[in-house]
Amino acid sequence: MTAQIIDGKAFAARVRAKVASHVSRLKDDHGITPGLAVVLVGEDPASQVYVRSKGKMTTEVGMESFEHRLDADTSQEELLALVDRLNNDPTVHGILVQLPLPDHLNSELVINSIDPAKDVDGFHISNVGLLGTGQKSMVPCTPLGSLMMLRDHLGSLSGLEAVVIGRSNIVGKPMAQLLLGDSCTVTICHSRTKDLQEVVRRADIVVAAVGRPEMVPGSWIKPGATVIDVGINRVPNGEKTRLVGDCEFDSCAEVAGAITPVPGGVGPMTIACLLANTVTACCRANDLPEPEGLTA
Ligand code: NAD
Repeated sequence: MTAQIIDGKAFAARVRAKVASHVSRLKDDHGITPGLAVVLVGEDPASQVYVRSKGKMTTEVGMESFEHRLDADTSQEELLALVDRLNNDPTVHGILVQLPLPDHLNSELVINSIDPAKDVDGFHISNVGLLGTGQKSMVPCTPLGSLMMLRDHLGSLSGLEAVVIGRSNIVGKPMAQLLLGDSCTVTICHSRTKDLQEVVRRADIVVAAVGRPEMVPGSWIKPGATVIDVGINRVPNGEKTRLVGDCEFDSCAEVAGAITPVPGGVGPMTIACLLANTVTACCRANDLPEPEGLTA
């Protein structure tokens, strides 16, 4: 193996430490405690695990965590009323509605009812528009974490060829916007892209966000490229299962200059960036300087 492994777990711990030190300064100097409200509707086991771990990490960095667990049959009106209360609660600086929502609820409507200034997931249409026009916004956590790791590893990204595989609203598109913001030449690939490997082969930066286990082999990677593997795929492993990314780790690591592993790469950065966004939202709400290195 030749590639440097980008250790997302260690990087995320550094981001959380930075958040924690900013939180303690906000408390000591201004008497403000940043607060994150997480809303979970229903009993989806994976969502319950995420929400629990978000709550734990929120309190670990010294912020206030508000958990709202609602029954699966909660009506749209009840959910919108809760979001409205959180929008108007000055102790809440970030609001996250855990997706997916049960089928009878309109996710788009609910997300767009969150105050954009408290939209720490960065999914509100106003934040999407602000990011798309290069203005200050709340940035979706997974692409933000990926950008932080790229900047840390490469320094300036200016002029580099970046290929993003996947065009989802939560990863692919915002990732491409962020890379464009850092002056990369960006190509977005998707399920209809012709000759994907030819496009990937010219990339200095590859971000794979597809959800197809190990679809990118090392033979597609330009020697020395930086590979950010966002994919999280569970595959059979004897009697059990194991997690793999969208890139074939061993063969890509033979060719790439650096690569994020799965697990332990992009994954841990997502919650760290949620905490970073919450402290940023709190600073903006109070007209205080934003922490450096925690925004796009
Ligand atoms: P999605 O299903 O919304 O989008 C997948 C994208 O891949 C689509 O735009 C589609 O056009 C593209 N695609 C599908 N087949 C393709 C092919 N053969 N060639 C090229 N492109 C193809 O998925 P998503 O929500 O963007 O998530 C992508 C992956 O990232 C998933 O594995 C998901 O679990 C993972 N993910 C990880 C984190 C994290 O914290 N690390 C966060 C979000 C998503």
